[in-house]
Amino acid sequence: MSVEVKTMPKMNIKKGDKVTILSGKDRGKSGKVLQVIPSEKKVLVEGINICVKHKKPRGRYPQGGKLNQEVSVFASKAMIICKNCDKPTRIARKELEDGTRVRTCKKCGEQIDV
Ligand SMILES: [Zn+2]
Repeated sequence: MSVEVKTMPKMNIKKGDKVTILSGKDRGKSGKVLQVIPSEKKVLVEGINICVKHKKPRGRYPQGGKLNQEVSVFASKAMIICKNCDKPTRIARKELEDGTRVRTCKKCGEQIDV
């Protein structure tokens, strides 16, 4: 018998979700999730937490200079916006008749995964 080791924490947010930011300098802003990093419980959101990176003129950036880049934020700072009711919402999980697990909106009850 082998014991299943679950190292990855469950993430309610998935790539492609629209989220709103709850705290920090980007509070109230929203964007699309570009990347989910479950091991760090972080998400990379389009247009959120932009940091200016200074590049030395070499390699990929022969001109050098500044580069605006999104930096991942903690998933706990982001809340999914329901496509159906268009409001930030908490996620519930539901099992369909065929056994598929889907995420649903706690506000309107609609499925978030299509
Ligand atoms: Zn909803």
